[in-house]
Amino acid sequence: MNSENLYKQSSQYVPGGVHSPVRAFKSVGGSPIFFKSALGAYLTSVEDIRYIDFCTSFGPLILGHRHPEVQIKVQDMLNTAWTFGACEPYSLKLAEFIIQNIPHIEKVRFVSSGTEAVMTALRIARAATKRSKILKFDGCYHGHVDSMLVKSGSGLAGEASSDSAGLTEDAIKNTLVCELDNETQLEAIFETHSKDIAAVIIEPLPANYGLLIQRKEFLNKIQTLCQNHGSLFMLDEVISGFRTSLGGIASDFNLKPDLVCYGKVMGGGFNAAAYAGLAKYMNLIAPEGPVYQAGTLSANPLAMTAGLATLEIMKKINGWEVLNTRTKNWVNGLNKFFESEGIALFLSHYASLFWLHQKTDQSIRCLSKIPTEHKNNYNKLFHLLLKKNIYMAPSAFEVGFLSIAHDDDILNATTKAIQSACLEIYKT
Ligand code: PLP
Repeated sequence: MNSENLYKQSSQYVPGGVHSPVRAFKSVGGSPIFFKSALGAYLTSVEDIRYIDFCTSFGPLILGHRHPEVQIKVQDMLNTAWTFGACEPYSLKLAEFIIQNIPHIEKVRFVSSGTEAVMTALRIARAATKRSKILKFDGCYHGHVDSMLVKSGSGLAGEASSDSAGLTEDAIKNTLVCELDNETQLEAIFETHSKDIAAVIIEPLPANYGLLIQRKEFLNKIQTLCQNHGSLFMLDEVISGFRTSLGGIASDFNLKPDLVCYGKVMGGGFNAAAYAGLAKYMNLIAPEGPVYQAGTLSANPLAMTAGLATLEIMKKINGWEVLNTRTKNWVNGLNKFFESEGIALFLSHYASLFWLHQKTDQSIRCLSKIPTEHKNNYNKLFHLLLKKNIYMAPSAFEVGFLSIAHDDDILNATTKAIQSACLEIYKT
């Protein structure tokens, strides 16, 4: 059966035919492709068409699909155990690796999704401070935690203003929202709510509504205000953690968060996430402390094995430096092409994340600076690239990811395809 028929069939059984909304191609139009296998930088569709994958499952696959060394270790674990629901040494190894390599992490608790990690980190902040309010930033997505479904990411762009139906007034009444890169507004919010803010949570590299690279000064400002007002400084590094570098943005920008949420790369393509940080806060969690959190499949051995193998390989091959340099060269080449052809596009990037958008005079650090003209052209480009066997993220506001498997040959072929698609769209 081809993708179109599978999608029709799936829509009979599954809401919208998908298990996560952005997969439905609603933003770019058309019918989603059904993939049957994946290896390295490639996805293969049920029609046996091979695509170069720049979505990479929205970020986890920093080594590409099914890296052989990770696969061997996961296969060994498949022959060992699938889940215990009891103590085991495998998660201990990943915890040890994280704590030995990331100076701002003293303790870590593994869970199964980024949403769960954020939900619990917020609970800890409220317990630690005995305060109720959480300050978040417009355009940052923190999973589908009720209180965080206010002004979140692009998956919700253009939808109802509260971001989701089914939220009670109570669930969102303690959520404060500030514009990214707006120190004046941030100070004013702290001025008004000084004694009520339990935590400030931010994606330090906002990547859920385009790629809104923040100034170090802005992140420092948040940290200082948190310190001065007794609020926890919480980083959501579900995307950026282990992606931009081993220590994520906190290390890149020398930040000192109280709590950090991880996911994606940390699980090597399996279901794993974590909340982590200073022991004095982490020790509030049950059974040590009074804050409850539990999980049947938490610290699943397959996910722990895949995550640890991925991080160890990345460290061994100096993967972050290799990948970040490769991405920079690739992006620069394409930006030169746009410039020389007079095509008003620009690829923003940080480490191995990239985002294509309409060229602007200023850096895009908050939602109001995002040019909107680009959406229709992105949708055309997305479909033209699909015809050229390249799979980008199915939304103009989702970022793309490179992996170690995206070698120079693959990137050169992609450059050529993007160039010819752009000439077709912008020059004819
Ligand atoms: N936080 C950020 C920054 C994310 O990008 C995501 C998911 O994309 C989440 C939290 C939620 O993670 P999950 O999808 O694993 O629940």
